Amino acid sequence: MPLDPSLRDHVIASVEAGFIEQIAFTQELVRFRSLRGEEHAIQDFVFRALRERGFAMDRFAMDRAAIERHPGASKFSPEHSDAPIVVGIHRPKEESGRSLILQAHVDVVPAGPEDMWRHPPFEPAIEGDWMYGRGSGDMKTGHAANLFALDALKRIGLQPAATIYVQSVVEEESTGNGALMTHLRGYKADAVLIPEPEEEKLVRANAGVLWFEVEVRGHSVHVRDMGAGANAIDAAYRVVAALRRLEAAWNERRHAHEHFADDPHPINLNIGKIEGGDWASSVPAWCRLDCRIAIYPGVHAADAAREIEQAVSAFAREDRFFANNPPKVTFNGFFAEGYVLEPGSEAERVLANAHEAATGRALESFMSAAYLDTRVYALYDRVPALCYGPISQNIHGFDERVSLASVKRITTAMALFVAEWCGVESLSSRP
Ligand code: ZN
Repeated sequence: MPLDPSLRDHVIASVEAGFIEQIAFTQELVRFRSLRGEEHAIQDFVFRALRERGFAMDRFAMDRAAIERHPGASKFSPEHSDAPIVVGIHRPKEESGRSLILQAHVDVVPAGPEDMWRHPPFEPAIEGDWMYGRGSGDMKTGHAANLFALDALKRIGLQPAATIYVQSVVEEESTGNGALMTHLRGYKADAVLIPEPEEEKLVRANAGVLWFEVEVRGHSVHVRDMGAGANAIDAAYRVVAALRRLEAAWNERRHAHEHFADDPHPINLNIGKIEGGDWASSVPAWCRLDCRIAIYPGVHAADAAREIEQAVSAFAREDRFFANNPPKVTFNGFFAEGYVLEPGSEAERVLANAHEAATGRALESFMSAAYLDTRVYALYDRVPALCYGPISQNIHGFDERVSLASVKRITTAMALFVAEWCGVESLSSRP
């Protein structure tokens, strides 16, 4: 049933009334340096924030064995986070609406050299409409919006008339195992909304992602005898060239994939990190590359992995140096498949209404060729998984920032979405 116009106006005004507090809360989240493996303190903060609001709380660790048995598991490495997952549970007086998962991740990617930032990355400065900071866009404003959309209902004496799980996860930037863990814990709802920074649009289709390391071994000699040695760093360039050929071949296949055919280069291979050698006057005996590549929805991670291994070994067989000394490929993070949000779901219709009421514009959808946690709910719960959130700039780069006007619009849309999807009832009195 569409929302009553006077309720709609009350919700819009209530988001506005809480917005200063919402921004301050978001800044608190940005101040946590919640890099991979360092999310314990922020998860404690989120736990307290949810508990103070009256949610029933659940906090649990990753169950590595259970994750590894699941087809959606990504690979564990020594860097894998052991921070807990936090879930706040709202239960209505009477379960009359449709249930919902509101999810966000607290992990952020490294800031890089801090002197390249306009403001220190973990000190969230506001300039005009922009809030700066690592994680400001991806996705601490979305995380706060999950809470403040519900607060906006509470402020006007209402609560959702259906169960809501507010999930705060880790490992979104490296494996997606945090979201998978919530699934394995048994949480499931009629729809999920994840407010990643998506330019106020809905993600229609999304790429899967694989992470892998390539290790090249050389032969170390003194540089004066360089011709007798084999330089692992020089050799690594040839491996990169072979991987670029694979990337080009995968991009050629875009025409077979709806939502991807119009993007000239949807499959991006990133050589994200390189290390090797011991010092300047020895021919280096080792070099390691950390790589990330995308895959189309419907392509299984294991099949893509096999193709990567085969491409590297086929190249190695024809290379004079590598023939006897093949590079070693190890999958060490994301091993995740993409998804397509099938159009026409009731959840999408409700979000489109809410978006239009909040922004005055029709909801657009688009393809995003990067990993998203929504894949867990789309692929393994098979429920409408909506990824939709604020306008941002430079996520994963320097001077990451988010538009505050946009944050207010999407929080309003989210509150309206919850009100219509879950329905509302008068607020429970809580102890
Ligand atoms: Zn994100």
